[in-house]
Amino acid sequence: MKISRRARSIGQSEIRSMTLECRKSGGINLAQGIADLPAPEAVKEGARKAITGNTNSYTRYDGIDSVRKAVAGKMKRYNGLDVDPEGEIIVSSGATGAFYIAAMVLLEPGDECLVFEPCYGYHINTLASLGALPKYIRMQEPDWTFSMDDLEAAVTEKTKAIMINTPANPSGKVFTEEELKDLAEFAVAHDLVVFTDEIYEYFLYDGNRHISPATFENIRDRTVTIGGYSKTFYITGWRLGYIICSNREWIDAMGHLNDLIYVCAPAPLQAGVAAGIESIDDDWYRETGRLYQKKRDFICEALAGIGLAPCIPGGAYYILADVSSLPGETSMEKAMHILHKTGVATVPGSAFYHDRGGENLVRICFAREDAILEEAVRRLGDL
Ligand code: PLP
Repeated sequence: MKISRRARSIGQSEIRSMTLECRKSGGINLAQGIADLPAPEAVKEGARKAITGNTNSYTRYDGIDSVRKAVAGKMKRYNGLDVDPEGEIIVSSGATGAFYIAAMVLLEPGDECLVFEPCYGYHINTLASLGALPKYIRMQEPDWTFSMDDLEAAVTEKTKAIMINTPANPSGKVFTEEELKDLAEFAVAHDLVVFTDEIYEYFLYDGNRHISPATFENIRDRTVTIGGYSKTFYITGWRLGYIICSNREWIDAMGHLNDLIYVCAPAPLQAGVAAGIESIDDDWYRETGRLYQKKRDFICEALAGIGLAPCIPGGAYYILADVSSLPGETSMEKAMHILHKTGVATVPGSAFYHDRGGENLVRICFAREDAILEEAVRRLGDL
């Protein structure tokens, strides 16, 4: 008896592999995208209260009233999008679960989805597990520009969707209004579904503004917005994400799949996130941006100083750094060299490209406490 072809197509992610290697050697893990800051008190208190008050049962498959209302309010205030909490939101098992069911509803095996490269591995593996095919659009470092001609050339009669991730992992690219306008017109012209993963929407630097593609009226009904609170509230293990979609036929189908696969997101944790959204003010989110910009600047300056030129990210919390000067043929060998020489784990650039791309890059996550970043920089100096 063999495991399925689907299961065989999905191996352990290189990010988890580096994390395991790092743990073995007791190193500093700048590979995985997990922040080590504490969750906001209001979020923890909201969950504590729900647990004490016996919020233990299944909830509606699209989430409890308070969390859907809180997300709708935030979508209006921050993203500029009117969302009906009664039918246009599904709270799911993280942004990961949200994208999985959205892709399951909208893609058939053999359908193609355009994906910007460097790309986030889970997007690719989600498509692969459904038998859908990623078609890659290469962005050019260091500013991660792309060409509409490449997009036009990549379209076939099987192209069904495009994935936009803004701010992006791993590049930190924040898509501009001009770029999104072009992509919206392109999606309409080719009748494409627009998936947009906005999990890093509050991690913005240098005055960059987050724009949700769904705010472009011409693509509103064909856009599936994916978001969540893993990163914003430092609760990656809570598994709280959401889908926003104004196409009722699509979102109803997604709701049924959310019910089938996850039943609902963890009930008391939904209450915690709702309490957090309702009570945390705008300044707190702006402060997050300022805090992370300081971390970004610190790491980027240090990397430049030791000859590992960073591509300066405009958002999210990763840096792709040029490691062409280090020994090793591939980015995996270079990342292992860094780990063995300094005890700092990074992710090989090849993890974010489908062919021989990224071999001179490693990804460094800077969502760590300042003292850890300082120690990592001190160690990287040994290179
Ligand atoms: N989307 C992107 C682009 C990410 O980088 C990550 C985590 O690294 C996720 C989604 C995962 O989000 P969640 O924890 O809500 O599943």
